Amino acid sequence: MGIQLFTPRYEVEECLEEIRECLEKGWTGLGFKTVEFEEQWKKYTGFPFAHFLNSATIGLNLAVEILKEEYQWQDGDEIITTPLTFISTNHAIARAGMKAAFADIDDTLCLNPDSVRERITEKTRAVIFVGIGGNIGRYAEIVKLCKEKGLKLILDAAHMAGTRVNGEIPGREADVVVYSFQAVKNLPTADSGMICFKNGKFDEIVRKKAWLGINKDTYTRSTNSGNYKWKYDVEYVGEKAHGNSVIASIGIVQLRYLDRDNAYRRQIASWYRERLAKYADKIGLVRIPSECSSSTHLFQILVENRDEVILQLNAAGIYPGVHYADNTQYRMYDYAQGTCPHAEYVSDHVLSLPMHLYLTFEDVQFIADEVIKIVVGSV
Ligand SMILES: *Cc1c(COP(=O)(O)O)cnc(C)c1O
Repeated sequence: MGIQLFTPRYEVEECLEEIRECLEKGWTGLGFKTVEFEEQWKKYTGFPFAHFLNSATIGLNLAVEILKEEYQWQDGDEIITTPLTFISTNHAIARAGMKAAFADIDDTLCLNPDSVRERITEKTRAVIFVGIGGNIGRYAEIVKLCKEKGLKLILDAAHMAGTRVNGEIPGREADVVVYSFQAVKNLPTADSGMICFKNGKFDEIVRKKAWLGINKDTYTRSTNSGNYKWKYDVEYVGEKAHGNSVIASIGIVQLRYLDRDNAYRRQIASWYRERLAKYADKIGLVRIPSECSSSTHLFQILVENRDEVILQLNAAGIYPGVHYADNTQYRMYDYAQGTCPHAEYVSDHVLSLPMHLYLTFEDVQFIADEVIKIVVGSV
């Protein structure tokens, strides 16, 4: 089978125990474990609100849609974003009828605040920041810039479950933070995500929009009577986007081990770094600011002849990945081609080495040595 890029590891027995409760109770849907997971997530992050969804993709879509409606942004208004991300990030902007305005990245592979500043126009309404691989980059400067310019801030934290900055979970400064608990992310469930608004009113809206626009809570609050529980009003054309109790059960269990698991990921990363550091002229490492304790979703390097290196690693039974192709190379976003030269360079040179909890010290030495042999010529 070789060494895969990602191999999710679950606390199988505990997950099954938690799921068993759902099955025995006969409650697998919205509520019960979804509420418990939301409460646990709020406790873990320190955020005031969290709503459990069936993916981060729908979370990003709803984030942009709700901010657009509530702040009365117009079609064609711009959100500044990164070209180096999974396509969910930028589709959320396009789907809402807005325009993805691409800014360049820096040596952390996150948005470069200097480039963001240059791309601000009178149509700019928000910035989406993606913490690539769990890195925080120059997020603090982006926060400042958004404040200074009156822009809203969306944090795509799909890679960031458990990332801390000076010991704290970052994101309280953002208007909304979206996490992914997809199968290969740091807190794997199967497919799910969490949307965390700063504003409680938006949290109420997303709960309705994620359940077809149905306004049940308000109804039960206003009547407070058992007899009309089946009655509800519908306020929006919403989505079927909420998470369910079976998947939340897995999330509840995996969250208990998130910090332990991320600590091991950081251990793996430091083994890679120690081994690769002396070849810095040929094997580029990504800068992670010293205040950032990264979730280490990815371990990325930069090499010449990247595609050839991947093929040679495959021949040695190692299966790396690429995160990501510069989104401005896709037909949908090619209006911005050539505007983000550093992202373009990274897109052609970046390579993600295997990063998962089954890797041993010996695996990491083996992988690093193969990389060195291929890229440098000899160990
Ligand atoms: C995985 C990912 C998403 C989408 O997450 P899903 O839960 O799979 O919808 C969004 N943004 C980034 C950066 C991702 O890596």
